[in-house]
Amino acid sequence: MLVLNAGSSSLKVCLYQLEAEPDTVPPPCWHALLDWGEDPTTAKLKVKTSHQQYQSILTHPQGAITGLPAWIKALLATLTEGQTAVVQTLDDICMIGHRVVHGGLRYQAPVQVDAAVKAAIAEFSEYAPLHNPANLAGIEVMEQLCPQIPQVAVFDTAFHAHLPRVARTYPIPQELSAAGIQRYGFHGISHQYVSERAAPLLELPPTALRLITCHLGNGCSLAAVKGGQCVETTMGFTPAAGVMMGTRCGDIDPGILLYLLRRGYSVDQLDQLVNRQSGLLGVSGISNDLRQILAAIDQGVAAAQLAYDCFIYSLQRGIASLIPPLGGVDALVFTAGIGENAPSVRADVCHGLGWLGVHLNPVANEQHHGDRDIASATSRVRVLVLQTQEDWAIARACLKVLAA
Ligand code: ADP
Repeated sequence: MLVLNAGSSSLKVCLYQLEAEPDTVPPPCWHALLDWGEDPTTAKLKVKTSHQQYQSILTHPQGAITGLPAWIKALLATLTEGQTAVVQTLDDICMIGHRVVHGGLRYQAPVQVDAAVKAAIAEFSEYAPLHNPANLAGIEVMEQLCPQIPQVAVFDTAFHAHLPRVARTYPIPQELSAAGIQRYGFHGISHQYVSERAAPLLELPPTALRLITCHLGNGCSLAAVKGGQCVETTMGFTPAAGVMMGTRCGDIDPGILLYLLRRGYSVDQLDQLVNRQSGLLGVSGISNDLRQILAAIDQGVAAAQLAYDCFIYSLQRGIASLIPPLGGVDALVFTAGIGENAPSVRADVCHGLGWLGVHLNPVANEQHHGDRDIASATSRVRVLVLQTQEDWAIARACLKVLAA
């Protein structure tokens, strides 16, 4: 199974060699990252297998999307040629899975790509202008390169497709809701994966479980998962909503945008403000990267401390807001870059939730032991740290489509 995660500034691809669904998460046998960051005409390629590593710089004068077919070809060449080769020909791949950010309400499960699916991904680009065009470009390039290999789209919105109407509905005139302005939610592949992983670790049946899953990476979102179904989530019509993030503001007073529009801000400037200049970066004026914020706090930088405090406060409010839809909570789950690697964030978030019966075991919280329970023995609410496995979740979804 080849898994593609095509973003607006990077492309991650990995290959899994599978006979059937294994009991534990297998490592990919080949993994490549193409990153074109700020300069879309130049990309860094890094490839890793279990025993080889390879790096190079690729250039295309017309930039990322136009250059994408050439870049993907160069990237896939490392799969069949040279030191990092792990298959003889691309025909050894039996299916290609793609992460697709927006599938609207139409796609509630992974689906094999055909003309109608591609048209829908293009249609939903209006709602996810940074992500869906990149996802579609990845699908079309792979179609040209390997027309004989079936492709599967796995949607980040799918896990939220059954949100209750009350959670989905914004308090706006309902003709706008009917036109598609509703809460969709994102990061669904990760929220679903960790919520399924939690039940066996807690030794509780998934049907009885009330979870709050906290996906804290550059983008951050929380989901309330009851009996395996997502019943509420913090992201909304777009991934800019909800809790504070690395560069996105999360929920702010909509009146701020109107005020700035009247002050002469353009739509593009507001887009930059909301998506790229806010969050940890905006408040600290230093970085969107939590590691740099923590380092600045150590040096006594007040703006970094304020950014961190706002982040923790936003997470606590977000978590508390998900309790009514669940009717209580059995476990909190922390995942993604910050959730898995920043013990201080977990400790500070949980410290404010003692009233709810959340108590950490400070020693377990500081250890780095993979998937684990870090709550104290007497904590009424369990607290899990789980490694998200979005690529593997996509490969597993492909296996299911193949079996069906
Ligand atoms: P993305 O959403 O781009 O996939 P990640 O899930 O990789 O992002 O998360 C990136 C975030 O995780 C960054 O804010 C980074 O600072 C944070 N992070 C990664 N490792 C650590 C660490 N050891 N300590 C604190 N924060 C970390």
